[in-house]
Amino acid sequence: MKPSKYSLLLISVFFCTLSAHAQDTVEPSLDSEELELTSWLDSQEDNMLDMLERITNINSGSLNKAGVDELASIFSTELRQLGFAISTMPGEVIEMPSCPGSDYNIDVADHVLASKSGSGSRLLMMGHLDTVFPPDSPFQEFSREGDTMYGPGVSDMKGGLVVMLYALKALNEAGQLRDKSISVLLNSDEEIGSLSSRKYLEEQAAAHDWGLVYESSGNNRLTRERKGLGQARFVVHGKASHAGGAHEQGRSAIKELAYKIVQIENITDYETGVTVNVGVISGGEARNTIAPCAEALIDLRYPEAEQGTDAVAQFEEIFGTVYSYPVDSGELTTESWTNLHRPAKIATPESDYLLNKTIAIGRLLGQELGVGDSGGGTDGSLTQSVGLPTLDSLGSAGTGAHSNREQGRVSSLVERAKLSAVLIRRLAAE
Ligand SMILES: [Zn+2]
Repeated sequence: MKPSKYSLLLISVFFCTLSAHAQDTVEPSLDSEELELTSWLDSQEDNMLDMLERITNINSGSLNKAGVDELASIFSTELRQLGFAISTMPGEVIEMPSCPGSDYNIDVADHVLASKSGSGSRLLMMGHLDTVFPPDSPFQEFSREGDTMYGPGVSDMKGGLVVMLYALKALNEAGQLRDKSISVLLNSDEEIGSLSSRKYLEEQAAAHDWGLVYESSGNNRLTRERKGLGQARFVVHGKASHAGGAHEQGRSAIKELAYKIVQIENITDYETGVTVNVGVISGGEARNTIAPCAEALIDLRYPEAEQGTDAVAQFEEIFGTVYSYPVDSGELTTESWTNLHRPAKIATPESDYLLNKTIAIGRLLGQELGVGDSGGGTDGSLTQSVGLPTLDSLGSAGTGAHSNREQGRVSSLVERAKLSAVLIRRLAAE
């Protein structure tokens, strides 16, 4: 279809809006000390790939504590060698309601904080050690074909961890790391919503001037704004009974769950941007037993804080109402857990400054970085919401996260490490 004049106008308004954020800043050319950083990194692709292959082949699904701990130990050793003091921030057990016999409590591994003091602006670099792939996932191994690499976490975000580490190594090699004030926070529970690490992220945000998150940069686009995220888990308890002999005496938890799911799904409103997804359900005991218990897991996305709290209020009303039987006999009850785990990330003049500076440095390095918004949250949403200007797509470029199609662009490892090394150097000098 040929675009109308009107749609062309809309398209140009859209791109002008993007470029208004993206092209304001001009950065001075790279100086000799920065060229030293970038030329050292140009020689590091093989080492970066070796490290990425090694850590990708260690399963670190969020619930695989041993694997997450192994990764934490590798990065602690590397960062200690660069002069960082390492401390451990304890994980914890997050308790969830569940049907008898199923256990949804989450045992979160410890998190790592590496820090060094110095002068200038204080930088907080963030990355997560966990992936969404459990140890029994068929997707476990790193592989490479030309400029494409495959594997669980190659872009989300083990590639980003390698980028972060090598940017710091480059500064160290050039003798430029010693005087800088930098902390590196590596959490183990990002993929389940940073439920345990949130407090540490917020604490550290308050003690720093700039936040840098090493999530994947997608197709070379840096993310400016993000939706808020929430999650809920609820369990309906009913009353078991024989499906033939005493049907009328039962109270089916599955039937009630089904009614609740319809109510919950109806909260989605594409016009306001609020979406809910009942992503997992389970329940019941046998075909011929009225189900005594059923449970569900909900995902919530919202552009503004108030919409998040409104949605939670609606959840609570739905959890507290019995829909499936005309008379509420008190035999159907609901237990629930809700958490608005990621506030919406709203751009501020300071975060736009950081974004524009990064894009301008990218231009000096011959990297064309675009800008986009996202429906997905990161730890940058947490730190920015408590006042730390945060940029959160500084990791390697890649696509297909959270699927067995996850892949990354090999050459982006060195590109992004160069971008970060120069960005760190300039930010720290402010
Ligand atoms: Zn991630």
